[in-house]
Amino acid sequence: MSTWAKAPDLADRPHQRDAVREGTVADRDAYLRDGLRPVQCEQCATTVLAKKNSPQHTSVQWSAESTQQCAVFASRAPGEPAESCPDLRRSIAAAADEGRLDTSDRS
Ligand SMILES: [Zn+2]
Repeated sequence: MSTWAKAPDLADRPHQRDAVREGTVADRDAYLRDGLRPVQCEQCATTVLAKKNSPQHTSVQWSAESTQQCAVFASRAPGEPAESCPDLRRSIAAAADEGRLDTSDRS
């Protein structure tokens, strides 16, 4: 097929089409390539992407949706720098302990 398609035809796959419209599939693919793994907060069910860079350092990616969903983020004062939800931090630590997070020294 020589025609360059602007976008994949997903009309027959409504779920995937919806996900693409929200940008989540492409984002998730990129994140997974970078070694980020989704971790869900056991308290508020917010999902973020986390990666273990070293035993001491974990990088966490919050999406605009996750910052709105998390009560800790939602209740922070305007302009206050975004820290992390303590419940989520615990969930990420648990995921790391269980080997569910990627580590950067593994390729
Ligand atoms: Zn939370």
